[in-house]
Amino acid sequence: MHYHLLLTQRCNLACSYCGGTREAEHMEVEYPLEALRSFIAKDSEPVIAFYGGEPTLRVELMEEVMDTIKATYILHTNGTLLHRIKPGYLRRFHTILISIDGRREVTDAYRGRGVYDRIIRNARLARRHFHGDLIARMVASLRSDIYRDALHLAGLGIFDHVHWQLDFELFWDGGSEAAREWLRSYNAGITRLVRRWVEEMRSGRVLGFVPFIGVTRTLLTREPAKLRCGAGVDFFAISPSGEITLCPVTPEYGFMRVGSIFDTSPEELRNCTSPGEPCASCDLLWVCGGRCLFINLAKEWVGEQGYALICSTVRHLVNELSAALPEIEGLIEEGVISKEAFDYPEINNDCEVIP
Ligand code: SF4
Ligand code: SF4
Repeated sequence: MHYHLLLTQRCNLACSYCGGTREAEHMEVEYPLEALRSFIAKDSEPVIAFYGGEPTLRVELMEEVMDTIKATYILHTNGTLLHRIKPGYLRRFHTILISIDGRREVTDAYRGRGVYDRIIRNARLARRHFHGDLIARMVASLRSDIYRDALHLAGLGIFDHVHWQLDFELFWDGGSEAAREWLRSYNAGITRLVRRWVEEMRSGRVLGFVPFIGVTRTLLTREPAKLRCGAGVDFFAISPSGEITLCPVTPEYGFMRVGSIFDTSPEELRNCTSPGEPCASCDLLWVCGGRCLFINLAKEWVGEQGYALICSTVRHLVNELSAALPEIEGLIEEGVISKEAFDYPEINNDCEVIP
């Protein structure tokens, strides 16, 4: 199973859509490492993703965990302190996700002046030692132009993949007029980006846009998708107190708590919940997977209108990729691109596929 390990609630940035350091009862890891080791030892294929706050603020603890526990490792970081990780540890990661929102002006507007340059410098440095999957992970919000920002990141020659997620504040309380207007331009940007993606395929290149690859894989194989992030299925978060929650972003909500490393076993957690209505009877469930368990459980916060907005972006994405599918299938048949290009991700790598 896949575990997000929150090494700290502190962050060295204060991004506009997140706010940075989260005030919580338990800010730093309090449990003895032995308790974590014995919990994870009951899992035959553990994947541990370091998360926070900003996990690289606790780089010594991170290295101690890697020295103590046998697992596949993922790092989810804002990239500004990546240079603190020693090469020997960098090499051991399967995937590193770096939060970056696109062009310099967009990233710096959300994340702080000079952040873009620090990330790019550190990502290039890390590339010397890290040969796994380097993912640019964007938040798309009111200043983003998904076409330009995703293409910018894909064109840097640093990242293997680009993934994005919509800022959930856009949907809160049904979504503001500004959010609804921006979402129309976002959908238009997706249409352009899908066209550009297919255009590149004609010359044999499959650009690593995770939402496009993941959804196209489902459309090609017709294998029904489960909840893409895996929350409540095979993905859980371990908070600094040792409490286990359904997902890492909302440990403060009681309904998200499902156990603790002291008295719960991984197998007790597996498949403990799944999204209810409106996802359960949605015609797109087989390809969408349910988008976000947290929003599904707390749907009153986005309201019917906010939920409908989320679904309209999913529907648009699926429609655009379905329309492109015959040409993609043709290119596979002709051998211009390989079907294996869509066998991604090989493990749950912190990309929820559906933005
Ligand atoms: S499209 Fe909307 S209702 Fe349908 S499965 Fe996805 S999130 Fe749920
Ligand atoms: S998609 Fe939703 S439920 Fe899944 S990890 Fe993200 S916030 Fe949590």
